[in-house]
Amino acid sequence: MLPEETDAVFEELQLDRRLQLGLDALALPAPTEVQQLAVPAALGGSDLRISAETGSGKTLAYLIPLAQRCLGEEIPPEAGTLALVLVPTRELARQVLKQARTLLASTPLRAEAITGGADFKYQKALLRRNPEVLVATPGRLLEHCEKGSADLASLQMLVLDEADRMLDMGFRDDVLQITGHCPPQRQVLMLSATLHHRGLREVSRALLHSPVTIAVGEVRQPHSGISHQLLLADHQAHKDQLLLALLQQGGYRRALVFGNRRATAARLAGLLRRHHLRCDCLHGELTTEERKQVMTRFRDGQVDILCASDVAARGLDVKEIDLVVNYDMPRSGDDYLHRTGRTGRAGEHGTAISLVAAPEWNLMISIERYLKLSFERRSLPGLKAKYSGPKHQKSSGKAVGSRKKSSEKGGKARSRAAAPRKPPAKRRPSSPPAASEDGFAPLTRKRSGD
Ligand code: AMP
Repeated sequence: MLPEETDAVFEELQLDRRLQLGLDALALPAPTEVQQLAVPAALGGSDLRISAETGSGKTLAYLIPLAQRCLGEEIPPEAGTLALVLVPTRELARQVLKQARTLLASTPLRAEAITGGADFKYQKALLRRNPEVLVATPGRLLEHCEKGSADLASLQMLVLDEADRMLDMGFRDDVLQITGHCPPQRQVLMLSATLHHRGLREVSRALLHSPVTIAVGEVRQPHSGISHQLLLADHQAHKDQLLLALLQQGGYRRALVFGNRRATAARLAGLLRRHHLRCDCLHGELTTEERKQVMTRFRDGQVDILCASDVAARGLDVKEIDLVVNYDMPRSGDDYLHRTGRTGRAGEHGTAISLVAAPEWNLMISIERYLKLSFERRSLPGLKAKYSGPKHQKSSGKAVGSRKKSSEKGGKARSRAAAPRKPPAKRRPSSPPAASEDGFAPLTRKRSGD
Protein backbone atom coordinates (compact mmCIF):
# COMPACT_ATOMS: atom_id res chain seq x y z
CA MET A 1 0.00 0.00 0.00
CA LEU A 2 2.97 2.32 0.39
CA PRO A 3 3.47 4.63 -1.38
CA GLU A 4 0.74 5.50 -3.90
CA GLU A 5 1.75 6.66 -7.37
CA THR A 6 2.08 10.37 -6.77
CA ASP A 7 3.84 13.50 -7.95
CA ALA A 8 3.93 14.92 -4.42
CA VAL A 9 7.28 15.44 -2.76
CA PHE A 10 8.16 16.26 0.83
CA GLU A 11 9.94 19.45 -0.28
CA GLU A 12 6.56 20.96 -1.21
CA LEU A 13 5.70 21.09 2.47
CA GLN A 14 8.40 23.73 2.99
CA LEU A 15 9.47 22.31 6.28
CA ASP A 16 12.18 23.58 8.54
CA ARG A 17 15.51 22.75 6.90
CA ARG A 18 16.63 20.69 9.91
CA LEU A 19 13.47 18.63 9.67
CA GLN A 20 13.94 18.12 5.96
CA LEU A 21 17.39 16.69 6.76
CA GLY A 22 15.74 14.19 9.08
CA LEU A 23 13.29 13.23 6.34
CA ASP A 24 16.14 12.85 3.88
CA ALA A 25 17.76 10.42 6.31
CA LEU A 26 14.60 8.30 6.21
CA ALA A 27 14.97 8.13 2.40
CA LEU A 28 11.25 7.94 1.71
CA PRO A 29 10.31 8.10 -1.94
CA ALA A 30 7.27 10.40 -1.58
CA PRO A 31 4.64 11.31 1.01
CA THR A 32 1.89 8.74 1.39
CA GLU A 33 -1.75 9.71 1.02
CA VAL A 34 -2.31 10.27 4.72
CA GLN A 35 0.86 12.34 4.90
CA GLN A 36 -0.21 14.46 1.91
CA LEU A 37 -3.56 15.16 3.55
CA ALA A 38 -2.76 15.37 7.23
CA VAL A 39 0.54 17.27 7.27
CA PRO A 40 -0.72 20.51 5.60
CA ALA A 41 -3.97 20.36 7.58
CA ALA A 42 -2.11 19.99 10.86
CA LEU A 43 0.40 22.69 9.91
CA GLY A 44 -2.64 24.94 9.36
CA GLY A 45 -3.40 24.53 13.05
CA SER A 46 -6.65 22.51 12.92
CA ASP A 47 -7.50 19.72 15.26
CA LEU A 48 -7.70 16.53 13.20
CA ARG A 49 -9.51 13.21 13.35
CA ILE A 50 -7.57 10.89 11.11
CA SER A 51 -8.52 7.38 10.15
CA ALA A 52 -5.66 5.57 8.53
CA GLU A 53 -4.72 1.96 8.13
CA THR A 54 -1.75 0.48 9.88
CA GLY A 55 1.18 0.76 7.52
CA SER A 56 -0.13 3.87 5.76
CA GLY A 57 2.67 6.08 7.07
CA LYS A 58 0.43 7.59 9.76
CA THR A 59 3.22 8.00 12.32
CA LEU A 60 5.14 10.47 10.19
CA ALA A 61 1.85 12.11 9.20
CA TYR A 62 1.69 13.45 12.76
CA LEU A 63 5.38 13.56 13.67
CA ILE A 64 6.20 15.96 10.83
CA PRO A 65 3.72 18.72 11.80
CA LEU A 66 4.43 18.10 15.47
CA ALA A 67 8.15 18.70 14.92
CA GLN A 68 7.56 21.67 12.65
CA ARG A 69 5.34 23.26 15.25
CA CYS A 70 7.86 22.72 18.06
CA LEU A 71 10.63 24.19 15.93
CA GLY A 72 8.53 27.26 15.18
CA GLU A 73 7.95 28.03 18.86
CA GLU A 74 9.88 30.50 20.93
CA ILE A 75 10.75 28.15 23.75
CA PRO A 76 11.58 29.60 27.14
CA PRO A 77 14.34 27.52 28.72
CA GLU A 78 12.11 26.46 31.62
CA ALA A 79 9.28 25.23 29.33
CA GLY A 80 8.13 21.68 29.84
CA THR A 81 7.08 19.23 27.16
CA LEU A 82 5.84 20.82 23.91
CA ALA A 83 4.39 17.78 22.18
CA LEU A 84 2.95 14.60 23.58
CA VAL A 85 2.11 11.42 21.69
CA LEU A 86 -0.06 9.01 23.65
CA VAL A 87 -0.02 5.41 22.42
CA PRO A 88 -1.65 2.24 23.76
CA THR A 89 1.42 0.00 24.09
CA ARG A 90 5.08 0.11 25.02
CA GLU A 91 5.98 -1.53 21.77
CA LEU A 92 4.30 1.19 19.75
CA ALA A 93 5.90 3.82 21.97
CA ARG A 94 9.31 2.43 21.12
CA GLN A 95 8.57 2.43 17.42
CA VAL A 96 7.23 5.97 17.45
CA LEU A 97 10.21 7.13 19.50
CA LYS A 98 12.57 5.59 16.98
CA GLN A 99 10.94 7.41 14.05
CA ALA A 100 10.80 10.64 16.05
CA ARG A 101 14.50 10.49 16.90
CA THR A 102 15.46 9.88 13.27
CA LEU A 103 13.27 12.75 12.15
CA LEU A 104 14.58 15.10 14.85
CA ALA A 105 18.23 14.09 14.56
CA SER A 106 19.33 17.41 12.99
CA THR A 107 17.13 19.55 15.24
CA PRO A 108 17.71 20.65 18.83
CA LEU A 109 14.50 18.84 19.89
CA ARG A 110 14.79 15.80 22.13
CA ALA A 111 12.32 12.96 22.27
CA GLU A 112 11.88 10.52 25.15
CA ALA A 113 9.47 7.70 25.91
CA ILE A 114 7.63 7.22 29.21
CA THR A 115 6.03 3.81 29.49
CA GLY A 116 5.20 1.30 32.14
CA GLY A 117 7.70 -1.41 32.94
CA ALA A 118 10.63 1.01 33.14
CA ASP A 119 12.25 2.50 36.22
CA PHE A 120 10.13 5.35 37.62
CA LYS A 121 13.07 7.25 39.13
CA TYR A 122 15.02 7.04 35.90
CA GLN A 123 12.00 8.45 34.08
CA LYS A 124 11.74 11.24 36.62
CA ALA A 125 15.32 12.19 35.83
CA LEU A 126 14.54 12.13 32.09
CA LEU A 127 11.54 14.39 32.64
CA ARG A 128 13.57 16.87 34.70
CA ARG A 129 15.53 17.60 31.52
CA ASN A 130 12.26 18.71 29.87
CA PRO A 131 12.34 16.76 26.61
CA GLU A 132 10.34 18.71 24.03
CA VAL A 133 8.67 15.59 22.64
CA LEU A 134 7.25 12.81 24.80
CA VAL A 135 5.88 9.49 23.59
CA ALA A 136 3.98 7.79 26.39
CA THR A 137 1.52 5.16 27.45
CA PRO A 138 -1.26 6.79 29.47
CA GLY A 139 -1.06 4.97 32.79
CA ARG A 140 2.58 5.69 33.57
CA LEU A 141 2.45 9.25 32.28
CA LEU A 142 -0.55 9.98 34.47
CA GLU A 143 1.44 8.80 37.49
CA HIS A 144 4.17 11.27 36.59
CA CYS A 145 1.60 14.04 36.14
CA GLU A 146 0.09 13.29 39.53
CA LYS A 147 3.48 13.17 41.25
CA GLY A 148 4.48 16.45 39.58
CA SER A 149 7.36 14.99 37.59
CA ALA A 150 5.81 15.61 34.16
CA ASP A 151 5.19 19.20 33.11
CA LEU A 152 2.59 19.52 30.37
CA ALA A 153 1.73 23.16 31.05
CA SER A 154 3.50 24.39 27.87
CA LEU A 155 2.10 21.67 25.63
CA GLN A 156 1.42 22.77 22.05
CA MET A 157 0.34 19.54 20.46
CA LEU A 158 -1.28 16.36 21.72
CA VAL A 159 -1.47 13.27 19.53
CA LEU A 160 -3.68 10.33 20.40
CA ASP A 161 -2.32 7.50 18.27
CA GLU A 162 -4.43 4.35 17.88
CA ALA A 163 -7.06 6.12 19.95
CA ASP A 164 -9.64 3.37 19.36
CA ARG A 165 -7.28 0.84 20.87
CA MET A 166 -6.44 3.05 23.81
CA LEU A 167 -10.14 3.18 24.61
CA ASP A 168 -10.55 -0.57 24.12
CA MET A 169 -7.72 -1.09 26.57
CA GLY A 170 -9.46 0.96 29.23
CA PHE A 171 -7.34 4.10 29.00
CA ARG A 172 -10.23 6.54 28.51
CA ASP A 173 -10.13 8.06 31.98
CA ASP A 174 -6.33 8.22 32.07
CA VAL A 175 -6.28 10.05 28.74
CA LEU A 176 -8.90 12.52 29.90
CA GLN A 177 -7.07 13.12 33.16
CA ILE A 178 -3.79 13.69 31.34
CA THR A 179 -5.44 16.30 29.12
CA GLY A 180 -6.49 18.05 32.33
CA HIS A 181 -2.77 18.76 32.86
CA CYS A 182 -2.43 20.33 29.37
CA PRO A 183 -3.30 23.91 28.44
CA PRO A 184 -6.72 24.28 26.76
CA GLN A 185 -5.34 25.84 23.57
CA ARG A 186 -3.23 22.82 22.56
CA GLN A 187 -3.76 21.33 19.12
CA VAL A 188 -5.05 17.75 19.13
CA LEU A 189 -4.56 15.11 16.44
CA MET A 190 -6.51 11.92 16.98
CA LEU A 191 -5.66 8.86 14.91
CA SER A 192 -7.61 5.67 14.77
CA ALA A 193 -8.06 2.69 12.48
CA THR A 194 -11.76 3.47 12.51
CA LEU A 195 -13.63 6.65 13.36
CA HIS A 196 -16.83 4.67 13.91
CA HIS A 197 -15.79 3.65 17.39
CA ARG A 198 -18.47 4.56 19.91
CA GLY A 199 -16.21 5.80 22.67
CA LEU A 200 -14.16 7.80 20.22
CA ARG A 201 -17.00 10.18 19.44
CA GLU A 202 -17.30 11.09 23.10
CA VAL A 203 -13.55 11.61 23.56
CA SER A 204 -13.45 13.58 20.32
CA ARG A 205 -16.23 15.88 21.56
CA ALA A 206 -14.43 16.38 24.85
CA LEU A 207 -10.96 17.10 23.46
CA LEU A 208 -11.12 18.36 19.88
CA HIS A 209 -12.24 21.81 18.69
CA SER A 210 -14.00 21.88 15.30
CA PRO A 211 -11.89 19.00 14.05
CA VAL A 212 -11.19 18.37 10.38
CA THR A 213 -11.76 14.73 9.49
CA ILE A 214 -9.29 12.95 7.25
CA ALA A 215 -10.30 9.45 6.24
CA VAL A 216 -7.74 7.66 4.17
CA GLY A 217 -8.84 4.69 2.12
CA GLU A 218 -11.76 2.58 3.23
CA VAL A 219 -11.19 2.12 6.91
CA ARG A 220 -12.66 -1.32 6.82
CA GLN A 221 -10.72 -2.30 3.74
CA PRO A 222 -7.93 -4.79 4.27
CA HIS A 223 -4.67 -4.18 2.41
CA SER A 224 -5.00 -5.14 -1.21
CA GLY A 225 -1.63 -6.91 -1.07
CA ILE A 226 -2.91 -9.61 1.33
CA SER A 227 -4.33 -12.95 0.33
CA HIS A 228 -6.97 -13.95 2.91
CA GLN A 229 -7.27 -17.68 3.37
CA LEU A 230 -9.14 -20.01 5.67
CA LEU A 231 -8.51 -23.54 6.90
CA LEU A 232 -11.35 -25.35 8.63
CA ALA A 233 -10.40 -27.26 11.76
CA ASP A 234 -12.12 -29.96 13.79
CA HIS A 235 -10.68 -29.22 17.24
CA GLN A 236 -7.69 -27.79 19.03
CA ALA A 237 -5.38 -30.74 18.33
CA HIS A 238 -6.27 -30.45 14.66
CA LYS A 239 -5.47 -26.74 14.73
CA ASP A 240 -2.09 -27.59 16.24
CA GLN A 241 -1.38 -29.96 13.36
CA LEU A 242 -2.48 -27.40 10.78
CA LEU A 243 -0.32 -24.72 12.34
CA LEU A 244 2.73 -26.98 12.42
CA ALA A 245 2.22 -28.08 8.83
CA LEU A 246 1.81 -24.49 7.65
CA LEU A 247 4.95 -23.32 9.37
CA GLN A 248 7.04 -26.38 8.57
CA GLN A 249 6.33 -26.11 4.86
CA GLY A 250 8.18 -22.76 4.82
CA GLY A 251 7.81 -20.24 2.02
CA TYR A 252 7.77 -17.23 4.37
CA ARG A 253 10.46 -14.96 5.73
CA ARG A 254 8.76 -14.03 9.01
CA ALA A 255 5.47 -15.26 10.41
CA LEU A 256 3.17 -14.04 13.15
CA VAL A 257 0.79 -16.42 14.91
CA PHE A 258 -2.07 -14.89 16.87
CA GLY A 259 -3.95 -16.46 19.74
CA ASN A 260 -6.80 -14.70 21.50
CA ARG A 261 -5.21 -15.24 24.86
CA ARG A 262 -1.78 -14.86 26.33
CA ALA A 263 -1.81 -18.50 27.45
CA THR A 264 -2.58 -19.65 23.90
CA ALA A 265 0.31 -17.66 22.48
CA ALA A 266 2.65 -19.12 25.11
CA ARG A 267 1.43 -22.69 24.52
CA LEU A 268 1.83 -22.38 20.77
CA ALA A 269 5.34 -20.99 21.09
CA GLY A 270 6.26 -24.04 23.20
CA LEU A 271 4.67 -26.40 20.69
CA LEU A 272 6.52 -24.86 17.75
CA ARG A 273 9.83 -24.88 19.58
CA ARG A 274 9.41 -28.55 20.43
CA HIS A 275 9.15 -29.10 16.69
CA HIS A 276 12.42 -27.22 16.14
CA LEU A 277 10.85 -24.11 14.67
CA ARG A 278 12.64 -20.88 15.55
CA CYS A 279 9.94 -19.22 17.53
CA ASP A 280 9.41 -16.68 20.30
CA CYS A 281 6.41 -15.44 22.21
CA LEU A 282 5.25 -11.85 22.72
CA HIS A 283 2.65 -11.19 25.37
CA GLY A 284 1.66 -8.43 27.73
CA GLU A 285 3.19 -9.98 30.81
CA LEU A 286 6.77 -9.75 29.60
CA THR A 287 8.91 -7.04 31.12
CA THR A 288 9.97 -4.19 28.87
CA GLU A 289 13.44 -5.67 28.64
CA GLU A 290 12.10 -9.09 27.70
CA ARG A 291 9.85 -7.61 25.03
CA LYS A 292 12.77 -5.66 23.62
CA GLN A 293 14.85 -8.83 23.46
CA VAL A 294 12.05 -10.74 21.72
CA MET A 295 11.64 -7.97 19.15
CA THR A 296 15.40 -7.77 18.54
CA ARG A 297 15.61 -11.52 17.97
CA PHE A 298 12.66 -11.32 15.55
CA ARG A 299 14.02 -8.31 13.66
CA ASP A 300 17.53 -9.80 13.47
CA GLY A 301 16.18 -13.07 12.15
CA GLN A 302 17.31 -15.21 15.11
CA VAL A 303 13.70 -16.34 15.24
CA ASP A 304 11.36 -16.16 12.29
CA ILE A 305 8.06 -16.91 14.04
CA LEU A 306 6.41 -14.87 16.76
CA CYS A 307 3.39 -16.15 18.68
CA ALA A 308 1.48 -13.19 20.03
CA SER A 309 -1.68 -11.94 21.66
CA ASP A 310 -3.47 -8.96 20.10
CA VAL A 311 -2.44 -6.34 22.60
CA ALA A 312 1.22 -7.33 22.60
CA ALA A 313 1.43 -7.23 18.83
CA ARG A 314 -0.35 -3.93 18.48
CA GLY A 315 1.55 -1.47 16.34
CA LEU A 316 4.36 -3.91 15.53
CA ASP A 317 6.27 -2.59 12.59
CA VAL A 318 8.57 -5.31 11.37
CA LYS A 319 9.38 -5.59 7.73
CA GLU A 320 9.15 -8.81 5.76
CA ILE A 321 6.34 -10.43 7.72
CA ASP A 322 4.69 -12.31 4.92
CA LEU A 323 2.53 -14.75 6.85
CA VAL A 324 -0.02 -14.09 9.58
CA VAL A 325 -1.83 -17.07 11.08
CA ASN A 326 -4.95 -16.56 13.16
CA TYR A 327 -4.86 -19.65 15.34
CA ASP A 328 -8.00 -18.24 16.95
CA MET A 329 -10.38 -16.18 14.90
CA PRO A 330 -10.07 -12.59 16.15
CA ARG A 331 -13.08 -11.24 18.00
CA SER A 332 -13.95 -8.52 15.55
CA GLY A 333 -13.38 -7.31 12.02
CA ASP A 334 -11.26 -4.46 13.34
CA ASP A 335 -9.03 -6.88 15.25
CA TYR A 336 -8.75 -8.93 12.06
CA LEU A 337 -7.58 -5.81 10.23
CA HIS A 338 -5.04 -4.98 12.90
CA ARG A 339 -3.60 -8.46 12.94
CA THR A 340 -3.38 -8.94 9.21
CA GLY A 341 -2.13 -5.36 8.75
CA ARG A 342 1.21 -6.66 10.07
CA THR A 343 1.80 -8.21 6.67
CA GLY A 344 1.48 -6.76 3.17
CA ARG A 345 3.20 -3.59 4.39
CA ALA A 346 5.00 -1.10 2.20
CA GLY A 347 3.59 -2.58 -1.00
CA GLU A 348 4.73 -6.15 -0.29
CA HIS A 349 2.56 -9.22 -0.64
CA GLY A 350 1.36 -11.13 2.40
CA THR A 351 -0.79 -14.11 3.30
CA ALA A 352 -3.25 -14.27 6.19
CA ILE A 353 -4.53 -17.72 7.13
CA SER A 354 -7.30 -18.18 9.70
CA LEU A 355 -7.96 -21.51 11.38
CA VAL A 356 -11.69 -21.82 11.89
CA ALA A 357 -13.39 -24.43 14.06
CA ALA A 358 -17.17 -24.89 14.29
CA PRO A 359 -17.70 -22.45 17.20
CA GLU A 360 -15.94 -19.72 15.21
CA TRP A 361 -17.92 -20.18 12.00
CA ASN A 362 -20.41 -17.37 12.58
CA LEU A 363 -17.68 -15.00 13.70
CA MET A 364 -15.79 -15.78 10.51
CA ILE A 365 -18.88 -15.02 8.40
CA SER A 366 -19.45 -11.75 10.30
CA ILE A 367 -15.87 -10.69 9.64
CA GLU A 368 -16.19 -11.55 5.94
CA ARG A 369 -19.32 -9.44 5.71
CA TYR A 370 -17.98 -6.56 7.79
CA LEU A 371 -14.77 -6.30 5.78
CA LYS A 372 -16.46 -7.21 2.48
CA LEU A 373 -13.91 -9.86 1.75
CA SER A 374 -14.15 -13.49 0.88
CA PHE A 375 -11.78 -15.92 2.52
CA GLU A 376 -10.26 -18.37 0.09
CA ARG A 377 -11.16 -21.81 1.47
CA ARG A 378 -8.08 -24.01 1.52
CA SER A 379 -7.12 -27.37 2.93
CA LEU A 380 -3.76 -28.99 3.54
CA PRO A 381 -2.96 -32.43 2.11
CA GLY A 382 -3.73 -35.14 4.65
CA LEU A 383 -5.19 -32.62 7.12
CA LYS A 384 -8.58 -31.82 5.60
CA ALA A 385 -11.16 -31.18 8.32
CA LYS A 386 -14.19 -33.40 8.67
CA TYR A 387 -16.11 -30.26 9.50
CA SER A 388 -17.19 -28.43 6.37
CA GLY A 389 -19.39 -25.72 7.84
CA PRO A 390 -22.90 -25.78 9.35
CA LYS A 391 -25.38 -28.12 7.68
CA HIS A 392 -28.06 -25.46 7.57
CA GLN A 393 -27.07 -21.94 6.80
CA LYS A 394 -28.97 -18.66 6.73
CA SER A 395 -28.73 -16.47 3.66
CA SER A 396 -25.95 -14.61 5.49
CA GLY A 397 -23.96 -17.84 5.58
CA LYS A 398 -24.31 -18.14 9.36
CA ALA A 399 -25.53 -21.33 10.98
CA VAL A 400 -29.31 -21.66 11.23
CA GLY A 401 -30.58 -21.82 14.77
CA SER A 402 -27.54 -20.30 16.37
CA ARG A 403 -28.27 -17.66 18.91
CA LYS A 404 -26.26 -14.63 17.93
CA LYS A 405 -24.27 -13.84 21.02
CA SER A 406 -23.84 -17.32 22.41
CA SER A 407 -22.70 -18.76 19.09
CA GLU A 408 -20.13 -16.04 18.67
CA LYS A 409 -18.72 -16.74 22.09
CA GLY A 410 -18.72 -20.45 21.41
CA GLY A 411 -22.01 -21.26 23.19
CA LYS A 412 -22.35 -24.80 24.47
CA ALA A 413 -19.87 -26.05 21.95
CA ARG A 414 -17.27 -23.57 23.14
CA SER A 415 -13.80 -24.86 22.42
CA ARG A 416 -10.68 -23.85 24.26
CA ALA A 417 -9.68 -22.08 21.09
CA ALA A 418 -12.62 -19.72 21.46
CA ALA A 419 -12.63 -19.45 25.21
CA PRO A 420 -13.58 -16.08 26.67
CA ARG A 421 -11.15 -13.66 28.16
CA LYS A 422 -10.53 -13.19 31.84
CA PRO A 423 -12.46 -10.45 33.58
CA PRO A 424 -11.05 -6.96 33.18
CA ALA A 425 -7.90 -6.00 35.07
CA LYS A 426 -8.55 -4.54 38.48
CA ARG A 427 -7.26 -1.06 37.59
CA ARG A 428 -9.60 -0.69 34.62
CA PRO A 429 -11.17 2.65 35.19
CA SER A 430 -14.26 2.27 33.05
CA SER A 431 -16.26 -0.70 31.92
CA PRO A 432 -15.68 -1.86 28.35
CA PRO A 433 -18.37 -1.40 25.70
CA ALA A 434 -21.14 -4.00 25.71
CA ALA A 435 -20.22 -4.86 22.15
CA SER A 436 -17.66 -3.49 19.79
CA GLU A 437 -18.79 -1.26 16.94
CA ASP A 438 -19.13 -4.19 14.62
CA GLY A 439 -21.38 -6.11 16.97
CA PHE A 440 -18.99 -8.86 17.93
CA ALA A 441 -17.91 -10.01 21.32
CA PRO A 442 -17.08 -7.26 23.80
CA LEU A 443 -13.49 -6.22 24.02
CA THR A 444 -12.46 -6.92 27.56
CA ARG A 445 -8.83 -6.32 26.95
CA LYS A 446 -6.32 -6.21 29.77
CA ARG A 447 -4.12 -3.19 29.82
CA SER A 448 -0.58 -4.00 28.93
CA GLY A 449 0.60 -0.61 27.82
CA ASP A 450 1.83 0.15 31.22
P1 AMP B 1 3.01 3.55 9.99
O1 AMP B 1 1.73 3.60 9.22
O2 AMP B 1 3.38 4.85 10.58
O3 AMP B 1 3.05 2.41 10.96
O4 AMP B 1 4.20 3.29 8.91
C1 AMP B 1 4.47 2.06 8.35
C2 AMP B 1 5.85 2.03 7.65
O5 AMP B 1 5.85 2.90 6.52
C3 AMP B 1 7.02 2.49 8.52
O6 AMP B 1 8.03 1.49 8.42
C4 AMP B 1 7.50 3.77 7.89
O7 AMP B 1 8.91 3.92 7.97
C5 AMP B 1 7.08 3.61 6.44
N1 AMP B 1 6.79 4.89 5.79
C6 AMP B 1 6.29 6.01 6.36
N2 AMP B 1 6.16 7.00 5.45
C7 AMP B 1 6.56 6.47 4.27
C8 AMP B 1 6.66 7.01 2.94
N3 AMP B 1 6.31 8.25 2.67
N4 AMP B 1 7.13 6.18 1.97
C9 AMP B 1 7.50 4.91 2.25
N5 AMP B 1 7.44 4.35 3.49
C10 AMP B 1 6.98 5.12 4.48
